Amino acid sequence: MKKRVTLSFPRQMSQLPVTYILARDFNVAANIIRAQVAPNRMGTLVLELSGDIDELDASLDWLRSRQVQVSLASQEIVVDAELCVHCGLCTGVCPTEALKLDPETAKLSFTRSRCVVCEQCIPTCPVEAISIHL
Ligand code: SF4
Ligand code: SF4
Repeated sequence: MKKRVTLSFPRQMSQLPVTYILARDFNVAANIIRAQVAPNRMGTLVLELSGDIDELDASLDWLRSRQVQVSLASQEIVVDAELCVHCGLCTGVCPTEALKLDPETAKLSFTRSRCVVCEQCIPTCPVEAISIHL
């Protein structure tokens, strides 16, 4: 199964090789969606984790035991259909093709199930039609 999680690292743990340890010790694959990690500063990682459910849970328990704050992402992207002018700019940065221009209608289509909430589309929209909701 897959889980999307946000990890917040205390300053002293910002060098922890998380993706390596999750793969080696828990057989959990971690796809980095967003990373803000600087040496000796608090860091944040948004990961999509894939693996066996028990191993996934064990890996999250291990992270918590290392003082890493784990939050299961429940945010979602919302496109305001009233504001969108179907310029297509957001489709150019979407890594999963959740945002696409329909070739027949030239209108934006958003497939929520494909969205990994990487947030890359938000700043590209000239009319601020894309936002993130809890
Ligand atoms: S948040 Fe990321 S994956 Fe979701 S629609 Fe925007 S660019 Fe695509
Ligand atoms: S960038 Fe904004 S206005 Fe342009 S297609 Fe995407 S959501 Fe619509």
